[in-house]
Amino acid sequence: MKIIISSVVVIGTLLSSIVSAEQVNLYSARKEALIKPLLDKFTQQTGISVNLVTGKADNLITRLKSEGKYSPADLLLTTDVGRLYRAKEQGLTQPIDSSEVSQTVPTNFQDEESHWIGLSLRARPIMVSSERVQANAVKSIEDLTDPSWKGRICIRSSSNIYNQSMVASIVAQLGEEAAQTWVNGLVSNFARPPQGGDRDQIKAVAAGQCDVAIANTYYLAGMLSSKDEAQQAQAKKVKVVWPNQDDRGAHVNISGVAMAKNAPNKLAARKLVDFLLSNESQTWYAKTNHEYPILPNVTWSDLLTTFGQFNAEQVPLSKLGELNANAVRIMDRAGWK
Ligand code: FE
Repeated sequence: MKIIISSVVVIGTLLSSIVSAEQVNLYSARKEALIKPLLDKFTQQTGISVNLVTGKADNLITRLKSEGKYSPADLLLTTDVGRLYRAKEQGLTQPIDSSEVSQTVPTNFQDEESHWIGLSLRARPIMVSSERVQANAVKSIEDLTDPSWKGRICIRSSSNIYNQSMVASIVAQLGEEAAQTWVNGLVSNFARPPQGGDRDQIKAVAAGQCDVAIANTYYLAGMLSSKDEAQQAQAKKVKVVWPNQDDRGAHVNISGVAMAKNAPNKLAARKLVDFLLSNESQTWYAKTNHEYPILPNVTWSDLLTTFGQFNAEQVPLSKLGELNANAVRIMDRAGWK
């Protein structure tokens, strides 16, 4: 009898340890420092542990693909909708199936079948030299094709997905021909062959190599809050101009998360997604990344507030993934290196 009772106890203990060992496997293209503290908080609150695998977005997508149905991945976290779209197109995702998700996140910032959703918003406005460019000198990205900007514009290469998504958004909203005209005009005003990342374009404006750049705001915010005084000084010489405020709004993109096709821990993964969309997480995540919260009712960090309010494009972001190849062709034709 004793033996039977102790066996029951042992089996019970085993079962409960299996149940309590809930976990989520997260493939993340975001750096560990930008997400780990939030994941720790999730584990504290729910008891669900998160196994974090970090890497470059395209490498993680390739890994998901080669692992196939044996992949341990539950979620793929990455920046730029172009990559989330690519993961879905390759059949590597499935619906998140969370009512919370579909209700809280604006519909243009999530996949129509809810395979991925935005977690934070990134804006890509114009940045100008506060010394050499007058307020109101530029009001739209179309203005930058005017010959008066010849030799004055810095922007990174066309191989960068942020630029591809930006051009794709023009194709989505104005059509292919208008997008080609805009890109041709922009390229003809470049100050130098594209080089470096967004931060380098801001530095080039500060150094007087160009007067205008197009870059994501979190780079400027990162420089302003940097411990490096030289970077702070460079950033202070540059001012954000929100373009197209009288028409379609400024270009925005997301960082977001997709549910992996063969997620072994789908329930726990969905809980993590819901957690990342809670007010508290949204505030922390956006503040740490210097991005904008994806939820409209969450307050911005003080630093972001200094850049001012803006109207964002309303185009469904899945369109940017869909039109990526068209954008690349347009940029190639224009000679955007
Ligand atoms: Fe970036």
